[in-house]
Amino acid sequence: MQKDILLEVNNLKKYFEVGRGKLLKAVDDVTFHIYRGETFGLVGESGCGKSTTGRVMMRLYQPTDGEVLYNGKNVHNMNAQEKFAHNRKMQMIFQDPYASLNPRSTVREIIGEPMEVHALYPRKQEQLMRIYELLEIVGLNHDHANRYPHEFSGGQRQRIGIARALSLKPEFIIADEPISALDVSVQAQVVNLLKRLQKEQRLTYLFIAHDLSMVKHISDRIGVMYLGNIVELTESHLLYKKPLHPYTQALLSAIPIPDPEIEEKRERIILKGEMPSPISPPSGCAFRTRCAEAMDICAFQKPIWREVEKNHFVACHLYNG
Ligand code: SF4
Repeated sequence: MQKDILLEVNNLKKYFEVGRGKLLKAVDDVTFHIYRGETFGLVGESGCGKSTTGRVMMRLYQPTDGEVLYNGKNVHNMNAQEKFAHNRKMQMIFQDPYASLNPRSTVREIIGEPMEVHALYPRKQEQLMRIYELLEIVGLNHDHANRYPHEFSGGQRQRIGIARALSLKPEFIIADEPISALDVSVQAQVVNLLKRLQKEQRLTYLFIAHDLSMVKHISDRIGVMYLGNIVELTESHLLYKKPLHPYTQALLSAIPIPDPEIEEKRERIILKGEMPSPISPPSGCAFRTRCAEAMDICAFQKPIWREVEKNHFVACHLYNG
């Protein structure tokens, strides 16, 4: 069956001026699409451009070049009325639930605010009922509605952030590192909640994360980003079974295996050094300064993005035919 594309990111670039005529190329020609109803994971180390990509998609930044199409419509090219209607469809969950919740507002006000902006419920009582319903949906209860964010644990605050994101009945949610600020014991609970909500509310997700461990539990397809580019993209199970790009292989080898015998025997790929600055990225393949497989060609020729196996795309000279 033909899958329905909800969102397309085409040749997206986002550069920031950093003084003295220099440009920080946070996102440098990124292309991917997201099918309706799927979870697309975007993974990479801090500073690789994944959050900037999400923020451009969310219209928090204007792109330097390229386009983001939602249902075929360019999200950066809408009139005020279209923007207002579009805002309901696309919501964001942030990494730090504490920073993203107004400390002076009660939970009821936090979740109710977007509803008021969009005049969803003319009657106060109706709005309150919906707030209670949302609290229950995310695993909280009515009593929590009149409390303030500081009265909650990190996991509960993220649940409030999720309830707020759901308040406008969106179709698409960008979850920007939604579990990285949480205790490991709570991370799985939040991921399971997001998975349940996806089924119940037929949501589509972009799930941004800095490591591959939790992403595999939620993503249908995954794009691996390095220094402003996607270097590998495929279905989640294929990425874990047969990672092709040396960077993906290194990220995967960093995930601990919960079996001490296997864990002791297996060889780790340790990434050399830090990610270079996106202000002066290496020539050729941007990963070459840390790649154990680097060849001469990698220094002067940027690898071509190719479909190496069915639905498995990679940019690396090791797979140039
Ligand atoms: Fe490594 Fe070369 Fe492949 Fe880049 S293109 S990942 S440097 S082998």
